[in-house]
Amino acid sequence: MILILLGPPGAGKGTYSQKLIEKYKIPQISTGDILRAAVKAGTELGVKAKEYMDSGLLVPDEIIVGIVDDRIKEADCKNGFLLDGFPRTVEQANAIASIFEKNGLKLDAVVNIKVTDDILKKRLTGRRMCRKCGANFNVNTLPPAKDGVCDKCEGELYQRDDDKEDVIEKRLQVYGHQTAPLIDYYNERKALKDVDANEGTIDEIVEKIAEAVKG
Ligand code: AMP
Repeated sequence: MILILLGPPGAGKGTYSQKLIEKYKIPQISTGDILRAAVKAGTELGVKAKEYMDSGLLVPDEIIVGIVDDRIKEADCKNGFLLDGFPRTVEQANAIASIFEKNGLKLDAVVNIKVTDDILKKRLTGRRMCRKCGANFNVNTLPPAKDGVCDKCEGELYQRDDDKEDVIEKRLQVYGHQTAPLIDYYNERKALKDVDANEGTIDEIVEKIAEAVKG
């Protein structure tokens, strides 16, 4: 199973991905997580990416495509994978299409997670992430059992710099200009499955996604 999760920042891609990878027994490839790990480790990639990430801009296509190309060749991807937060531009979509073709891989579906701007802003400002394991919580919609502490590993929860209000606005604009065109792109290729994620529990939305993928 090869899936792409498309949707604006704050749509819940990371949260739904966590459940979907259990369901389909495939790894999640989150380019945002890969970049954050590189920033934390202080690698050359991390130093380059940080500037773009902190200002809500996209990291250049050639950097991101190279990362994904390498990652999908790893052994755990042999039965498929879920791309979360990639592709984010038409150039990235074209690049991954030719990588799939070269490697004899077939995309099963692109799930377009639809959420209104009001809800997105509420989710983004409330989001907290674990410094240790990267798990996501939300002070508004998915609070941890103990304030500021990860339920899974007891790591410290923090607010991402790019989840602060001024950067959120920029990220939503970037989504509208650079990523939203992928909705038409995948619609034209008959791969797009819309899922309304404005209401419902996480499990209900995951179920809707699974239904959409099947249909
Ligand atoms: P995310 O965690 O998916 O919201 O990603 C956080 C940030 O990482 C984004 O705002 C971008 O700066 C960068 N990023 C993640 N994925 C991509 C991508 N596919 N293309 C370009 N930049 C990306």
